[in-house]
Amino acid sequence: MVMGDFAQGTQVAVIGGGPGGYVAAIRAAQLGLEVTLVEQEELGGLCLNWGCIPSKALIHAAGLKREIERADRMGIIAGELSVNLPKLMEWKQGIVGKLRNGVSSLLSQNKVEVVQGTAHLTGERSFTVESPKGVGRFEFEHAILATGSIAAEIPGMPHDGVLVMDSKDALELQALPKRLVVVGAGAIGLELGTVFAKLGTKVTLLETARTLLPMLDPQIGKVMERALKSLNMELVLGARVKGMEKRNGVAVLQYSALEGDKSVEADKVLVAVGRRPNTTGLGFEKAGVKLNNRGFVLVNDRMMTTTAGIYAVGDVVAGPMLAHKASYQGKVAAEVIAGEPASFEAVEVPGVIFADPEIAWVGLTEEQAKEQGYKVKTGVFPFKALGRTLTLGDEGLGFTKVVSDAEVGTVLGVHIVGPSASDLISEGALAVSSAANIEDLTLTIHPHPTLPESIEEAAEQAEHRAIHIFSPPSKSEKTT
Ligand code: NAD
Repeated sequence: MVMGDFAQGTQVAVIGGGPGGYVAAIRAAQLGLEVTLVEQEELGGLCLNWGCIPSKALIHAAGLKREIERADRMGIIAGELSVNLPKLMEWKQGIVGKLRNGVSSLLSQNKVEVVQGTAHLTGERSFTVESPKGVGRFEFEHAILATGSIAAEIPGMPHDGVLVMDSKDALELQALPKRLVVVGAGAIGLELGTVFAKLGTKVTLLETARTLLPMLDPQIGKVMERALKSLNMELVLGARVKGMEKRNGVAVLQYSALEGDKSVEADKVLVAVGRRPNTTGLGFEKAGVKLNNRGFVLVNDRMMTTTAGIYAVGDVVAGPMLAHKASYQGKVAAEVIAGEPASFEAVEVPGVIFADPEIAWVGLTEEQAKEQGYKVKTGVFPFKALGRTLTLGDEGLGFTKVVSDAEVGTVLGVHIVGPSASDLISEGALAVSSAANIEDLTLTIHPHPTLPESIEEAAEQAEHRAIHIFSPPSKSEKTT
């Protein structure tokens, strides 16, 4: 980094080193461009350091504990289990460290210059980087903005990192709270709530919506409600948090519920009510980069902002705040800069919630497909009817559902709640993004006994020819 009056030139400046930014940087370098990446915290961003990766490590460990506790039904008897949380956190941190080193090596192998510090755009082709070493000035031909998002707060409950936590704090706890109240039963609330419940904390989820996961297939929320109960987690739907008092180090949350005003005590509170784009105070306006009314950077399907030569990807642009969306967009931006015909138009973004059971979806729900005017044919297959589910020691709560266009058979959506849904959904994503037909799924041999058979059987069920579930066509279907 050059300090003082001289500006360092670069062909492509990437601002932010998360899954949007570092992937964009590597792809741009692969395409022969000279790249500088600026990161103010850690390479890998929120996902690798304080999100996707550490949470999945804790989810696995907590699931393992629960598996061992329940293994006596298989004749495997373990002694009394205990959780050494600092040791668990150290193990998780080791994984994060290895992956972060991996990202750093990949950037260096691709000859991406990494600059540590906070970037501020100062014009349409320039930015500064502030760090403890001083202020450096840069000029660029193209820039990719990938500055991510920030946890939303609830008025009256400011984040203090101790009593009122965000997901980052929860992933670094060194002692298990006795009582945890999670505000928001979305992706973070369900994932981390489940972790702490399995580790032994009494977890209460307060959720404003009147149904759980209202944006998904309605049966998924129902399955998840049963699953939360079986983990002894309390879910309060229709709960709007109005305020919080601290009494002797304990949080007392007041909330309005369907049956009136209520309060609940907590040793820790996790606020998981969504995230907002990190687009203010970074000089975007000085570069003419326009935001929409919710603070997201306006982009077209080639990830171009309102300023020629500046692109934006990931959580700073509208759409699901997901690492895989950010990475895909990062590759699109890099390829567009290199003159390739890449675009983010009509790209299907699968979603996953790593609760227990896992939830995953891609494409249209049955309801959305009907709203869009499709004549819809669906097939549903329950996991409890699948041999592989039971051999895994899973009770088979959940199902795979395939939504198709009844007229031409195209697969429009796949919705899964059940074991390994996060892995299974990739077949659904391939089917939806390649406009596969129901027949493409039924004529593909799925090895037995495996969980992906649930996709084959769900597709067969749409045609009333699933083998492992009895579902003959209704009288009206027989006559049509
Ligand atoms: P979210 O949008 O998934 O869920 C927030 C929930 O909080 C919603 O159900 C909402 O109704 C509820 N809510 C909002 N205000 C509330 C209030 N005052 N009181 C009670 N409930 C309230 O957001 P999140 O769980 O915070 O996650 C943030 C982002 O990170 C999301 O975009 C999510 O997709 C992403 N994420 C993804 C994964 C994954 O892919 N597995 C995991 C974690 C987070």
